[in-house]
Amino acid sequence: MPRAAVIPKPNSAVEIRQVPEPQLEPDSALFEVELSEVCGTDVYLQQGRLQGVPYPLVPGHVSIGHLSKIRGSIRDVDGRELREGDRVTFLDVHRTCNACWYCLVAKATTRCPHRKVYGITYGLDDGLCGGWAEQIYLKPGTRCILCVSDAETFMAGGCALPTALHAVERGGISIADTVLVLGSGPVGISSIILALMRGALRVFCIGAPDLRLDVASEVGAAGVLNFEKHDERGRLEWLLERTGGRGADVTIEATGAPDAVVQAMRFTRDAGRVVVVGQYTDHGPVSSRAAFNPHLDLNKKQLDVRGCWGSDFSHFYRAVQIVSDPNRSKPWAALQSKLSHYKLAQANEALADVAAGRVLKALIHPR
Ligand SMILES: [Zn+2]
Ligand SMILES: [Zn+2]
Repeated sequence: MPRAAVIPKPNSAVEIRQVPEPQLEPDSALFEVELSEVCGTDVYLQQGRLQGVPYPLVPGHVSIGHLSKIRGSIRDVDGRELREGDRVTFLDVHRTCNACWYCLVAKATTRCPHRKVYGITYGLDDGLCGGWAEQIYLKPGTRCILCVSDAETFMAGGCALPTALHAVERGGISIADTVLVLGSGPVGISSIILALMRGALRVFCIGAPDLRLDVASEVGAAGVLNFEKHDERGRLEWLLERTGGRGADVTIEATGAPDAVVQAMRFTRDAGRVVVVGQYTDHGPVSSRAAFNPHLDLNKKQLDVRGCWGSDFSHFYRAVQIVSDPNRSKPWAALQSKLSHYKLAQANEALADVAAGRVLKALIHPR
């Protein structure tokens, strides 16, 4: 029986359980997990801060491994039939219906009400649906992609890479733009790399702690600032000095702090663009200290503010292509030495280290 790390209920420690090997429905598969990860969302899952989550739950939404058993037939987006033994990853979002109003009229599949996410909105009752396990049950209709990237380079991007790719796309960055990234976690770091890839002249990053800001510099940030050492006014002055007194052309908020959304607007030049991607968990309203002023912070600035929810197949597919390319994958390959490794039985430790920001990225090795 495969072993899985399970969050039994909100605010309780992860337990290792033996789970019966799933019975395969037609056109489903068993996936042997090589590597999975711990991201900020997993910390919030453990704290019970996401809505619509069924516990008990096996976390781990993005993983890499291989198909060990296939029943029926599974094809990739190129129409290729996948075989047992193929090295793959799969889109964590499942059951996007392509039949509802959001899918067909708004063309915003990330808002499809039928979508389910492995490791987040699929619980243990739905089967082995998370990457903190030796095996994952891939239900019919799961979107698999062949992946030749080495596992650690792939996971250095992990779930943050498609999310950041979506954010950078929503940012509509033009060649030679100055971009500001708020937040230096995995989404922030991948956003810096992708903004440069998209043609930004310079990317600045305001985040913390210094350990993560060093990584931001290594991947190409032109300047970094630790927000813990500077108040909002100090941060704004620092940025204005570097942007001709105007602010960033495009700001990507990837912090998880509601007040940072208002700051993102203030740090952006008039008629610029702000992408909010760091509020995947409901952290509540902005504080009274942030004192959002619609006239000064939004209307008069003629800002374009865009939300960015999760990612869809196109973002995940492009992310896999990038980390599979010998040249384009280099920034993530260079992060390998910054990754921290945990066995399944160390999942609680991994969660605590991610929650405290002690590590850039925690990987789970189920085997
Ligand atoms: Zn739909
Ligand atoms: Zn994640």
